[in-house]
Amino acid sequence: MELPIVNHPDYVAKINDDNKFPIKKFGELANYLKEIKIVKDFIIPKPCSFETLNEAHSKDYILKIKEKSLDLLSQKKIGFPLNDSVVRRSYVATGGTVLASKLAINHGLACNTAGGSHHATFNEGAGFCVFNDVAVATRYLQKKGYARRILIVDLDVHQGNGTADIFKDDSSVFTFSMHCKSNYPAKKTKSNLDVELDDNLEDKEYLEILKKYIMYLNEESFDFVFYIAGVDIHHNDRLGKLKISDQGIKKRDQIVIGNFYQKRIPLCGVLGGGYNKDFNKLVELHSMLHKSCAEII
Ligand SMILES: [Zn+2]
Repeated sequence: MELPIVNHPDYVAKINDDNKFPIKKFGELANYLKEIKIVKDFIIPKPCSFETLNEAHSKDYILKIKEKSLDLLSQKKIGFPLNDSVVRRSYVATGGTVLASKLAINHGLACNTAGGSHHATFNEGAGFCVFNDVAVATRYLQKKGYARRILIVDLDVHQGNGTADIFKDDSSVFTFSMHCKSNYPAKKTKSNLDVELDDNLEDKEYLEILKKYIMYLNEESFDFVFYIAGVDIHHNDRLGKLKISDQGIKKRDQIVIGNFYQKRIPLCGVLGGGYNKDFNKLVELHSMLHKSCAEII
């Protein structure tokens, strides 16, 4: 079976080249996945509807994004200029994770080529995240009756503080964040399970810790998993402070995907962060999520 992969050309928003966010990676990743024959045709998402967004974000915040009326300080906190293209991107990338999650229900595995905007809370965006796509898709699946108890495995180097905040009083969603303790955000929000890693951690120890907590999570029952596969844990990342190799990231993805696939729990993979100093390497690292899913399905 071919892995369903969701992508939209509008994931590549028009922002200045001097912005710290490597926005072009979304277009290059799509090209690369075709080039290495992981995908023939992408599945194209629609922009997320207001009704669906409103399950995880306030009406006030959604309208401020839609109308580009968010104050400058809040825009600065996000890190993107709020132009038409960034607004469009925020809607289609969220729609993309919603679509990928539905596809995962039918196929066991599905991926977006964006997503993992885990710093966005109910009322505001932050750290290059406008809408919390995984939180929106989680609520969507539950509302439609596709899943009841959902696990969010967040292995981006930064803590999933926005996701933790959105689900803090919701026992039907389990938030697991394994991140570098000294990385952004300085003030963490409590997830259901936070694993804080020390700077400069390497493959062997990282993978051992991960396996231990996956075993722990296996004692609970879930009927859907979101996996935020941030590659900013890589040793050559500009922002992350861990020292994980290419092979370490590949193994990490295989451990997570293999574990839940074997248990027949549908899994939706999303990109998460990545700010590698080497742009081509960044694209290759992000593609590992899709490659590992394609190999197992
Ligand atoms: Zn990150």
